[in-house]
Amino acid sequence: MKKVRHILGISGGKDSTGLAILLHRIIPDLEFFFCDTHKELPETYEYLQRIQTRFGIKINMLSSNKGFDEWLDLYSGYLPSARARWCTRRMKLEPLSEFVGDDVAYSYVGIREDEDRAGYLGSNPDIKPVYVYKARDFRQRNLGKEIYNQKSMLAEFKKIGIELPVKECGYRIDDVLDLVEKSGLGIPKYYDWRTRSGCFFCFFQRKYEWVMLSEKHPKLFEEAAKYEKTLKSGRKFTWCAKESLGELLDRKDQIIANHKKSLTRKKKEEPNRPLSEVLASVLDDDDFDKPCLVCSL
Ligand code: SF4
Repeated sequence: MKKVRHILGISGGKDSTGLAILLHRIIPDLEFFFCDTHKELPETYEYLQRIQTRFGIKINMLSSNKGFDEWLDLYSGYLPSARARWCTRRMKLEPLSEFVGDDVAYSYVGIREDEDRAGYLGSNPDIKPVYVYKARDFRQRNLGKEIYNQKSMLAEFKKIGIELPVKECGYRIDDVLDLVEKSGLGIPKYYDWRTRSGCFFCFFQRKYEWVMLSEKHPKLFEEAAKYEKTLKSGRKFTWCAKESLGELLDRKDQIIANHKKSLTRKKKEEPNRPLSEVLASVLDDDDFDKPCLVCSL
């Protein structure tokens, strides 16, 4: 008979951290993991360390056996993009699959009640996603996989002595922020300029976040810019569509001014909303691309 495990991916963001706070006591053998590309923000590594110390847990650091640069060579210099996300597959999903092996794993996913997305479900039927924050019935079509929300899991979990922390209306962003703040941990330090964890060069980053990366971590911005190149044929490999990071930085003042305008408007519309939420909402308005689902919960 296959071994049954309980796993929780910590990304260094507030949602997965909130789940760790909720679950680390009620699921004693919960295994925590972080898929490390070795290209994360220093704030993320620091936050992971704080989570471990605060809650006395161990986060298993999972890595690919090849680094990003090695994979990039194997992909002939093609930078990953929303359409060609080899980085997620090679550096996050494959190490996770290896970690689970032949076992059955309940994988707790930090997608909130107020989010309409499924995250990475994978094709392995033995990895069973549990959406603890979701109270309402939640089904993602066409992915061929059952998703468990808190209600659908209650009876099954009671049998093995686990009482999921059910909240009638589910967990929305303010509930999660509240959980993280009240735990004494506080939200990750990058939340005043960036809304999600993930690699410092993540192509899902918004223009404003790139500008802020250049200010907060100029060396990392430079490192990201070095990956961009133009082939003799004129073909360009850039992180953002339509412009290089150098061109983006030339428009820095304009990008900051636009961002400030949107922020002021949002603050006026919703004066009682926490700043991190307003920032997230402004940045979401800026971009059409979905963020990295497996990397930034
Ligand atoms: S955070 Fe972005 S760059 Fe990093 S693995 Fe995820 S999608 Fe790729």
